[in-house]
Amino acid sequence: MNYKILFTDLDDTVFDSSSLYKQAIEMSWEHLRKFYNISLEDFQRVFLEIRTSLKTEYVHKTISHHRVVLFEKLLEYFKIPFNAGLLLEMDRTYWFCVNTYIQPFPTVIDTLNKIKEANVKILGLSDGTILDRLGNIDSLKMSKYFDHLVSSEEVINTKPELDMFNLALKKANCLKEDVLFVGDSWEEDVVGGKSFGVQTVWFNPSNEVAPNNSIIKPDHTISEFSELLKILNI
Ligand SMILES: [Mg+2]
Repeated sequence: MNYKILFTDLDDTVFDSSSLYKQAIEMSWEHLRKFYNISLEDFQRVFLEIRTSLKTEYVHKTISHHRVVLFEKLLEYFKIPFNAGLLLEMDRTYWFCVNTYIQPFPTVIDTLNKIKEANVKILGLSDGTILDRLGNIDSLKMSKYFDHLVSSEEVINTKPELDMFNLALKKANCLKEDVLFVGDSWEEDVVGGKSFGVQTVWFNPSNEVAPNNSIIKPDHTISEFSELLKILNI
């Protein structure tokens, strides 16, 4: 099959950002502790509790990814008076940490170069805010690989809802059969891609076991990003 377009998830598919979140949480705590006596353990626990509650309250909504919303709730929890400068600085510190240490996965750069050389368009489809994703891509100097970025903020809903896929198709001005989609999350990417009706690759570098009760199956499963080249006939 000859694909004209690659849709790719970003977080934990193209670049490794999740492994940096623990450090980023600690950095934002480092800023807060200059003014308030809160232990790192309490900060980490409350951060994760609020993150989980946001995901439960706003299922498949971009707002559940906003760190500044999370920090606002965190300050409320610790009964810290509203402080716009403090919130902005905690958010800035958090993303500064992520974007300082962020790295692409092995073989990603070489693979994206070969895909571009073969004149296949590349669109990044990512849950999260536009500014956060622009920060990731710019820090990695990866703009040149992407024809478009589609952030869930543009359509409110995250994957596996279909809004982002529809917008990506519109931005790419192509048909579903022209598209190959790759992502690491079973729930968001495999379910989202297959529900939308495009050929879907599960990027599974840690060899996770697929849910055995799922009626949805990816068209391909890969553990290295470079395995996309064979699927794309490059
Ligand atoms: Mg991902």
